[in-house]
Amino acid sequence: MKNPFHIMLIPTLGCPSKCSYCWSSEEGSPVMSIDIVREVVAWLKDFREDRVTFTFHGGEPLLAGAEFYRQALPLLSQELHKLSPEFAMQTNLWRMTPEIAQILAEYHIPIGSSIDGPESITDSQRGKGYFKKTMQGYEIAKSHDLNVRFICTFTNKSIKYKEEIFNFFKENGFVLKLHPALPSLRSENPKEWALEPDDYGNLLKFLLDKSLENIGVMEVMNINDLCRCVFTRRGSVCTFVNCMGNTFAVGPDGSIYPCYRFVGMPEWVMGNVRDRPTMEQLLESEPGRRMTAFSEYVDTACRDCSHIRYCRGGCPYNAMAPTNGSIEAVDPHCVAYKKIFDEISDRFNKEMFENPVMEMSRFPSRSRKSAKPGMMALMRTIVEK
Ligand code: SF4
Ligand code: SF4
Repeated sequence: MKNPFHIMLIPTLGCPSKCSYCWSSEEGSPVMSIDIVREVVAWLKDFREDRVTFTFHGGEPLLAGAEFYRQALPLLSQELHKLSPEFAMQTNLWRMTPEIAQILAEYHIPIGSSIDGPESITDSQRGKGYFKKTMQGYEIAKSHDLNVRFICTFTNKSIKYKEEIFNFFKENGFVLKLHPALPSLRSENPKEWALEPDDYGNLLKFLLDKSLENIGVMEVMNINDLCRCVFTRRGSVCTFVNCMGNTFAVGPDGSIYPCYRFVGMPEWVMGNVRDRPTMEQLLESEPGRRMTAFSEYVDTACRDCSHIRYCRGGCPYNAMAPTNGSIEAVDPHCVAYKKIFDEISDRFNKEMFENPVMEMSRFPSRSRKSAKPGMMALMRTIVEK
């Protein structure tokens, strides 16, 4: 069960890598001081009572160094013990050292890292040498029993190699989590790498088939999450819930944002941990009001969609970033979400229709066209986890 409350700590926006499609790295970005972590602790002591997950994100969070984590982790876990803090980290692993790995292992911190498939594909879109450096860090993490999973960014170039990429993850025993390359807002050619929503939807359908062919052998996290959404009729990852009020990000200087994706954009600062804002004050800030307005917009824009309950218009960042914060549309990946949610719903319904024991009308159906078997088996493996 995921914790309902999520704080992303962004120790720096700096990153030693130069991935071609990355939009969340800034050269010369300052690094969070341990004083800011103390302020985070003071802010959260009376902020909310739910269990919390802290994710160290970036930029590249390992640039903060071993001493930062040696101090930050006990501070957060001991001073905020009533929130039962759990931790996670998203890193390219380049700066992983045995010393840092040892500290992270003491707190059982799961690591999310990034590779885009075999070395040649990864390096072609993340830069020469990326794959080897990440794998070196991976070996250090593994030797300290850290659990590492890889996010694979699919671009409009790498999607041509989707079979090869899937096989790479399978042969190496890696769980696959995919991320579609987004249009870069900081580039002169924003769509150079971006995956078109229609292609993203087809990719998800391809991965659904692959998941069914490989039940018990290979997991695709996105497919598990999407099936869970349809089956429980509740969003289970941030893209498919109303993230406002449940997720916040803290930048290197203590500024609070709705999510890591907004960090470094002054117009999205909701407050600062030094001022210990209440939830009401954050929601009343200009970015807070914009996020609430997005949720209200979704109520109208998506009202005829059978997936609104668990999709909730997708990611507000994806929706608002291209229009500089004005609310003109839902997440442009709507096309992809509809495609995969329809597919999952249809297949579930088809299976239940064919098997009277399972028959219940809980999934919205578009059609009775032929569906491939195996959805209930897949769902069972997800639930048993
Ligand atoms: S803005 Fe998007 S990425 Fe960020 S928490 Fe919300 S849904 Fe997730
Ligand atoms: S699939 Fe599209 S229309 Fe349906 S809820 Fe999601 S964003 Fe809205």
